[in-house]
Amino acid sequence: METYAPCSKCNRLNRIPLNADPRGGGSRPEPVCGACKIPLPVHGAVVEVSAEGLERLIAKSPVPVVVDFWAPWCGPCRMFAPTYSSVAGEFSGRYVFAKVDTEANPAAGDRHRIRSIPTLAIFKNGGEAQRQSGAMDANGLKQWLGLR
Ligand SMILES: [Zn+2]
Repeated sequence: METYAPCSKCNRLNRIPLNADPRGGGSRPEPVCGACKIPLPVHGAVVEVSAEGLERLIAKSPVPVVVDFWAPWCGPCRMFAPTYSSVAGEFSGRYVFAKVDTEANPAAGDRHRIRSIPTLAIFKNGGEAQRQSGAMDANGLKQWLGLR
């Protein structure tokens, strides 16, 4: 199990090994950038990205990237977060599970023409392959991702 996280300082895409236990253990040290050693915002198996980091991740990730476009003021977004985390914990390696706060990073929402949140999108080979607006339950999310 692994994921990939872009560094906000040096732009390096870091490979992050994840705990094999899908419930997540408390033992994993906080991931840091391999080049400049600053902490990387990886929460469980979900990678938090900025607008620039998102583009870096989409361009460079060796596996497809799922992105949750959300905002802190959005109730359905907050309700969806645990579902997203849990599916990410189970299936990282097949996908990178990223999230971008569109309030803190309006450029990300503009660039990808996000009209409502939450919106989920899958990026493959540098381009958008699929998108879905509105939260899903865990089974719906897995089905949408082709994981069941
Ligand atoms: Zn760095």
